Amino acid sequence: MEERSILSLRERLRRRELSAEELTRYFLERIERLDPKVKAYITVTPEEALAQAREADRRLSSGEDLPLLGIPVAIKDNICTRGVRTTCASRILENFVPPYDATVVERLKAAGAVILGKTNLDEFAMGSSTENSAFFPTRNPWNLERVPGGSSGGSAAAVSAWLCAGALGSDTGGSIRQPASFCGVVGFKPTYGRVSRYGLVAFASSLDQIGPLSRTVADAALLLQVIGGPDPRDSTSYPEPQPDYLSELERSPEGLRIGIPRECFSEGLSEEVRRVLDGALQAVKDMGCEIKEVSLPHLEYALPAYYIIAPAEASSNLARYDGVKYGLRVSGRDLMDMYKKTRSQGFGPEVKRRIMLGTYALSAGYYEAFYRKASQIRTLIIRDFEEAFSEVDLILMPASPTPAFRLGEKTDDPLQMYLSDIYTIPVNLAGLPGLSLPVGFTEEGLPVGVQIIGPQLADAPVLRLGHTLEKTLGLNLQPPLE
Ligand code: GLN
Repeated sequence: MEERSILSLRERLRRRELSAEELTRYFLERIERLDPKVKAYITVTPEEALAQAREADRRLSSGEDLPLLGIPVAIKDNICTRGVRTTCASRILENFVPPYDATVVERLKAAGAVILGKTNLDEFAMGSSTENSAFFPTRNPWNLERVPGGSSGGSAAAVSAWLCAGALGSDTGGSIRQPASFCGVVGFKPTYGRVSRYGLVAFASSLDQIGPLSRTVADAALLLQVIGGPDPRDSTSYPEPQPDYLSELERSPEGLRIGIPRECFSEGLSEEVRRVLDGALQAVKDMGCEIKEVSLPHLEYALPAYYIIAPAEASSNLARYDGVKYGLRVSGRDLMDMYKKTRSQGFGPEVKRRIMLGTYALSAGYYEAFYRKASQIRTLIIRDFEEAFSEVDLILMPASPTPAFRLGEKTDDPLQMYLSDIYTIPVNLAGLPGLSLPVGFTEEGLPVGVQIIGPQLADAPVLRLGHTLEKTLGLNLQPPLE
């Protein structure tokens, strides 16, 4: 694992043992050979990547030092890339080529990264398995009959199968952390506002947050350092500068008080996941942390509240896809007919379900019963966490109730699919930082992740506990496909 990390590749590039072009060709060759099985990428951009790599080599040889100089990464296809198709895995944006880069992409480029391509997702990031992609499902590299999770399933699978050194995903209700857990990689959802959403195609704006997927916690810290920080183009971005995440990692977690929410370890959690998490908990104790039981009494209402709030925001955000300014247009008899045809042919079934749910929940007469109620629940959940964090520094809980499930297993039952995010959604509702870290395997050899949660802006302590736990456990996570 030490070898396969951004930090170790960076060392080798700096020492000129390896050129950025060689490294980029290495990943492109793996993508060509292995991605037909995994199907992590929607678009691969070999020419652009090689040009960026040669530029990185020029800068490396002139002694320039940038945080990601020559490091090949992948980007979820709901994050805008100038001149490179950004589809959101939707027919409605199948041929959309953004005229600008998202802030995070601008920052990756400024840090010298090489962009290999755009990764698959559930359409508009709505889903938990990447099966809602309008193009094709992605497969879990650990078992090709299983889903990689979602919605950032393409990014998680690409990191897991070593088809890129690191990747960006987005997380509205668990879309970075749940696929990270399914694919045996690290996934981090920063505090809401840490990372600019400018250029992220909006799903539910009060919940959406971009974050890294990587093979190590230190790599996640490095990626966050590059993409995060204030951005005047996103009014919700947090105005203060970021801490130095990498140097914070080295501080000892000894004495930290770790809360275990009682409600998370009851029914619904698979036995195998529980067994693996028990091992992780023991390791945390051995590290000198104090373990305390805490309570999140409103946890059970998080999922229903999310499935009002997220669709309500989505129904409004997705109103812009009407065939007029960009994206698919299907002509009709008149304007109304054009709208109808464009939207009925452009959106897939899950996206339509969300638009209908959200429109209904916001309509006159129902707003009080649904949207307002859900917002009140959101406040209760925020308070639950505040209460818990008055007693402990960080919280440890499952990332997902089960390991990766089979393709097709939940596609006919939206509620079962939604339940996959039961442990991740409350964190988005409260705007907190959440890390998913691989901590073991099931008997069948499927990875299991644990989730570490902190109070708002405690991104650094969350990463620090994750980093120490990762080193303590020393799991051997070789890419499952060679
Ligand atoms: N699975 C959840 C949903 O379908 C979360 C998705 C996400 O985080 N983008 O809404």
